[in-house]
Amino acid sequence: MAAPVSTIVTGAGSGIGRAIAIKLAAIGHAVLVNDLSGQRADEVAAEIRAAGGIAAAKAGDVSSEADVAAIHDAAAASHGVVGLLVNNAGIAHQALFENLDVKDFDRMFAVHVRGTFLMTRAVLGPMLARRSGVIVNIASQLGQIGGIELAHYSGAKAAIIGMTKSLAREVSSRGVRVNAVAPGPINTPLVMELSEDWRERKKSELPLGRFGEPEEVAETVAFLASSAASLFVGQTLGPNSGDVML
Ligand code: NAP
Repeated sequence: MAAPVSTIVTGAGSGIGRAIAIKLAAIGHAVLVNDLSGQRADEVAAEIRAAGGIAAAKAGDVSSEADVAAIHDAAAASHGVVGLLVNNAGIAHQALFENLDVKDFDRMFAVHVRGTFLMTRAVLGPMLARRSGVIVNIASQLGQIGGIELAHYSGAKAAIIGMTKSLAREVSSRGVRVNAVAPGPINTPLVMELSEDWRERKKSELPLGRFGEPEEVAETVAFLASSAASLFVGQTLGPNSGDVML
């Protein structure tokens, strides 16, 4: 029997990341659960182990070079060379462009863009050496269409989509598959941080008439991680209730 794929899911203490970690563990991955909160990472890893899966936890900030090295080392020490990275960690914040503080702008790009870059750089060398690996970046449909009061969030997610395409062009012929997922609104604590007005307006615009659940995004990630997605390279898949149709 093949060894379980050593897998890192960032920001997996909550919401979509938690659902991804649980889903991947259920289909046989050995998961390193990362989160800013060590307690939440421990809880999710314990939940996976209680269900018979393989998981370890490591707290850390994906925008910190030192923390990223520690997250990568923890995954490699626990489960071997990393074969799948899911860059999921993210934050929400709303402000009209003219009121946007530099510190809020910088933090948005640090967590999403610098975090995705640092984590990807940490796993890429060993993946290229083995000519095998998969990277899935969690973007957002707002990176495709923009969002009012969300220029920094939308800009960061657009950067992730661009980075995904560039990296996919560089490395797919060397055995590493890179894709992105751009969810629509999903019922998680992050969306509850946005205003009720925003949530009500958004729901009324959705062809499906409802927000998604984290488990529905996890299915898309599990597909992209699998050999069934062997022809998907540099793509951005949209589990988005029909909000964006490309
Ligand atoms: P969530 O429930 O708030 O989960 C995000 C997790 O990431 C939290 O546990 C958070 O920890 C962690 N995190 C934040 N900054 C981090 C950092 N620097 N290093 C490590 N972990 C960090 O949000 P979610 O809705 O599941 O979002 C997951 C991803 O999906 C994000 O990238 C988000 O942008 C994207 N997304 C979400 C939606 C949606 O509607 N929910 C739609 C499209 C895309 P703390 O809570 O301790 O800060």
